[in-house]
Amino acid sequence: MSRQHKHFALDRVGILVSVACFIHCLLPPILLMAFPFITALQAFDLWLHVGLAAVMIPIATKAIAQGYRHHSNIVVPGLALLGLALFLTSIVILFLHHEDHSHYLKANIYSFELILSIVGSLALTLAHILNMYFCRKKDMAH
Ligand SMILES: [Zn+2]
Repeated sequence: MSRQHKHFALDRVGILVSVACFIHCLLPPILLMAFPFITALQAFDLWLHVGLAAVMIPIATKAIAQGYRHHSNIVVPGLALLGLALFLTSIVILFLHHEDHSHYLKANIYSFELILSIVGSLALTLAHILNMYFCRKKDMAH
């Protein structure tokens, strides 16, 4: 008996958004090292991350709540919560620092909030991948 996994589509969107965030977080430090005059990118950081969070949170909540009902593996919601918590913490730090441009720009390469959002988006990507993996694994056991 095979189950319907409508949340797989949401998981894929969630992975796409998380990976996009991961790339977006990695690009500015690389670009800044190559072209130190590019600073305009930084201005978009805070609101882009707020926008990403507004997409990631409902998608992750819905996909993983549905997936969890299928596979009952606590690792998946655990990882997702960890990822979202790290990501939200990085947004709070960005928010607290975004007026303080001189400090922010200097500290931005390898900065704390960058590492938090990179680890957060990776944890969330992994949560979505495992969400699909454990559902498939359970189907195969039947
Ligand atoms: Zn499922």
